[in-house]
Amino acid sequence: MFRPASRLAPIGVSEILKITGLATNLKREGKDIIVLGTGEPDFDTPDHVKDAAKRAMDAGATKYTALDGTPELKAAIRLKFMRDNGLDFGLDEITVSAGAKQVLFNAMAATLEAGDEVIIPTPYWVTYADIVLMMGGKPVLVPCRESNGFRLAAEDFVRAITPRTRWVMLNSPSNPSGAAYSEADYRPLLDVLMAHPHVWLMVDDIYEHIIYDSFRFATPAALEPSLRERSLTINGVSKAYAMTGWRIGYAGGPSALIRAMAIVQSQSTSCPSSISQAAAIAALDGPAEIVRERCCSFQARRDLVVAALNKIEGVTCRVPEGAFYTFAGCGGLIGRHTPDGQRICSDSDFAEYLLRSVGVAVVPGSAFGLAPYFRISYATSVSELEEACRRIALAARRLT
Ligand code: PMP
Repeated sequence: MFRPASRLAPIGVSEILKITGLATNLKREGKDIIVLGTGEPDFDTPDHVKDAAKRAMDAGATKYTALDGTPELKAAIRLKFMRDNGLDFGLDEITVSAGAKQVLFNAMAATLEAGDEVIIPTPYWVTYADIVLMMGGKPVLVPCRESNGFRLAAEDFVRAITPRTRWVMLNSPSNPSGAAYSEADYRPLLDVLMAHPHVWLMVDDIYEHIIYDSFRFATPAALEPSLRERSLTINGVSKAYAMTGWRIGYAGGPSALIRAMAIVQSQSTSCPSSISQAAAIAALDGPAEIVRERCCSFQARRDLVVAALNKIEGVTCRVPEGAFYTFAGCGGLIGRHTPDGQRICSDSDFAEYLLRSVGVAVVPGSAFGLAPYFRISYATSVSELEEACRRIALAARRLT
């Protein structure tokens, strides 16, 4: 009998996997299913990035590289942090991994002792808590109210801090809410951090370039230089450059932490892919217009989805500042009944009803630690989004 290691015991099967598994099965049965669950851009990787990868292969960049990133990629990341964020990291303060996810994993593995606490505002990307659990740490989930824009309120942050708090994890723009922190939004949280010097700050800026209207992106380490010594600023090429499959993420932080993370990486993946690292240089050094153009296209889709959802009685949808997700409230539909007499008791019930009755796969808010909501990823075609919203409206109308 196979017996998994006990460190996996606290990690359940995610609701996202459950709903996508169900959607895949229904599709296999020939049902017409629209999947709005995936967290990746539908665009292709830009040609100049692919060309750089081909050139790198032909030039023999097919071997192990330096442990946590080639000097050339680290130099491009250094420039990116200076250009976009006003952050000046030395090469020994930069790490490169197989995606932002591995950066997070390395950071938690390199720092957490059993029982150490990590404050995670909800709704949150479930990976944060699962990695903490896998390392024997304790995720401390702090709900963020929609009335506060799904952002962490300073008073809730203070209340969650204990002597065991090791990290606070912030993500802006956020998966799943699309909410982002402006400089003014960050200020009160930075004041709390200044008053609690044992708490380190991990920020996930992976959606930095996917922002809308006149929103101005900010990152804490640049806003408060004295926090630099206990901040890890995580980013990557997956979302901005449609490179999810290339697996390159990176971070800037204090050199002692970066060195400890390299030890973890040295005994797991050895180094990120040599070819992908060459491609990532082309992405970071390449033209910014392509990212802006794609952002305009995402914004048009956001507007379409938000408007359509807000027309549905019982559903409300805040306008997200960034990323490619809407996080709509479905509290007005809880307690109603489906045409075949089933009661909708939760957002999970609503998501399952949408999938089974009209063939639209969304992810319930409870999968991200905040109910009753549902997340739509609008990184898909306008025609598919229009059809999906039409079907969701129809399903909602049929509830009594
Ligand atoms: N952070 C957030 C908030 C994400 O949504 C994702 C991808 N779903 C990642 C990190 C992981 O990105 P990567 O592909 O670089 O591992």
